[in-house]
Amino acid sequence: MKCFNAHTHTIPDNHKGIYQSDAVYTASLFSVGIHPWDAEVKSLSEIIPALHHENCRAIGEVGLDRLKGPSMEIQHAMLLAQLALANELQKPVIFHLVRAWDEFYALLKSKQTPWIIHGFNSPKQVSRLLQTKVVFSLGPASLQNPHMQPILAQIPLNRILFETDDTASDINQVYLDYSRATSTPLEEVYAQIEQNFLAIFGA
Ligand SMILES: [Zn+2]
Repeated sequence: MKCFNAHTHTIPDNHKGIYQSDAVYTASLFSVGIHPWDAEVKSLSEIIPALHHENCRAIGEVGLDRLKGPSMEIQHAMLLAQLALANELQKPVIFHLVRAWDEFYALLKSKQTPWIIHGFNSPKQVSRLLQTKVVFSLGPASLQNPHMQPILAQIPLNRILFETDDTASDINQVYLDYSRATSTPLEEVYAQIEQNFLAIFGA
């Protein structure tokens, strides 16, 4: 069965993935965006050419991080500019969010394309997020968090993606860990994640 990786900083080899790039990348699908940590030192013009490339399937990772990076005002301004671009170019958005949930919920009214919360690991937000249309991208840390495990099964499988982010983990292991944690047959997990990935990012 083929694995689909929604967010990786490592070039996908034996699976299909969205490689997190800084520029045009031709060997696989990729995402490009200005990370909130870089909101003060990078400018939008650096990513515009890559955003228009056919392999660019998402803008990201973008977002808000209250623990690291420039002021929330600077991060917020950069995020708004990138969300406008996402709407203009009709690109999905991959979010990096750390302790900025109120700001995130306030932005949801501008959502026009799929929004993916990468490395989702905030069990207390699940019930509220389930009332929105956001997609949960789960990685190794999400599946190893003992507070996440009991509520994983509350998230419908058609709203889930898998990722390895910047870890050396095998994407196959994420499938296995999810299947085990939720008692979902592995074949069903593979089939639905493929469908989700293709619906959001295209073939
Ligand atoms: Zn990442």
